[in-house]
Amino acid sequence: MAVTRARIQVPCPWHQDAMVQLVEQHAQGRLPHALLFSGPRGVGKLRMAESLAQTLLCEKPAGGLPCGQCQGCQLSTAGTHPDLHRLSPEAGSRAIKIDQVRQLVSFATRTAQYGGYRVAIIQPAEALNRNAQNALLKTLEEPGGQTLLILVSDQPTLLLPTIRSRCQQRLLPVPERQQALEWLQGQVGDSAASLLDAAQGAPLHALALEQADWFADREKLLEALVSVAEGRQSVAQASPLLAKHDPTEMAGVIYGWLSRSLHQSISGEASADSRLAPLLERLGRAVPPARLLRAGQRVLEGRRALLSGANPNKELLYEQWLLVLVGVDAAAAAH
Ligand SMILES: [Zn+2]
Repeated sequence: MAVTRARIQVPCPWHQDAMVQLVEQHAQGRLPHALLFSGPRGVGKLRMAESLAQTLLCEKPAGGLPCGQCQGCQLSTAGTHPDLHRLSPEAGSRAIKIDQVRQLVSFATRTAQYGGYRVAIIQPAEALNRNAQNALLKTLEEPGGQTLLILVSDQPTLLLPTIRSRCQQRLLPVPERQQALEWLQGQVGDSAASLLDAAQGAPLHALALEQADWFADREKLLEALVSVAEGRQSVAQASPLLAKHDPTEMAGVIYGWLSRSLHQSISGEASADSRLAPLLERLGRAVPPARLLRAGQRVLEGRRALLSGANPNKELLYEQWLLVLVGVDAAAAAH
C-alpha cells in the first residue's frame, strides 16, 4: 500500500528570501498580526501563505519549513487543523460573504486548541465586499495574542485603505525570467517558455495554463492568427476557432504571442517553444512592428474590459483583435 505523505507547502524559490525574513521576524517575536501578500496573479502568493501557516502550526519546524511529520503538520495539510482558518468565496460565488467574516471573527477570539498560533488565510482578499471588509477591521486591529491573519490579493487597491494600513504589506512580484523558466522547465519541460509568455511571466499561472484546453490546440490557434495576418484566411474564417476558448484567458495568450513575435523579429532570437517558433517568425514577417504593438494594446484593453465584467460577443471580439493585424483598427476609428 502506498504511503500518502502529507503535502507540505514550500515557498517558490523566488520567495525564499521573503520567507526567511518572516521566519526570522517570528523567531524574534516581531511577526505582525496581519500580513498582506500582494502581487500579480500566479506568482505563488497563496503557496507562500500556506507555507507560513504550516510553519507556524508545526511543532518542530526545521530550517524555516514545516516538518511534515508532527500532528500539527498532518492536521494542517489535511485541511482539518482547528487553528487554521481559510476564508475564500464559497462555490459558485465570487464574493466572501459577511457571515463568513463573522465566523472568522469568532475564530480569532477563541483560544488556540493546540496551544500555539492561530492562523487565518483570506484569499483573494479583494473578494471581501465593503461590508465584509468593515466587519473585519476590528479583528485586524486587535486580534487575540499569537494570531496571524494573512490576506492574499492580486488587486490590493480594491481593499479599503483602512484594511491595507492595518496589514504589513509584502509585495511578491513576478520573478526574474531565468529563474522562473528554470523552475517551470522542471515541471513542464520544453513548453515552459511559451507558457511563461502566455502567463506574462507568472510561473504558477503558467503551470495552470498547461492544463487549459487551448494549450493542446496552440499551434492551430496561432496558425489561425498567422493565416489572417498573411491574408490566406479571412477574419470571419479564423475567429470561430478562437471563439471556442475563453477570451479572458486567450487575451493573455495572444498578447504573449504578439510580444514574443515582436521580440523575435527585432532580436532574431527564436522562441524556445520549437512548435511555435516558425509560426511566430511568420507573424513577425507579415505584420509590421508598430501594428503588432497596436494589436497587443487592443488585446489588453479587451482583457481589461472582460475582467471588469463586460460580456461582449466572443466572435466579434476576436474579429476585432484579428482585424488590427491586417491594419483595420476599429477602436482607433471609434476615438
Ligand atoms: Zn510539523
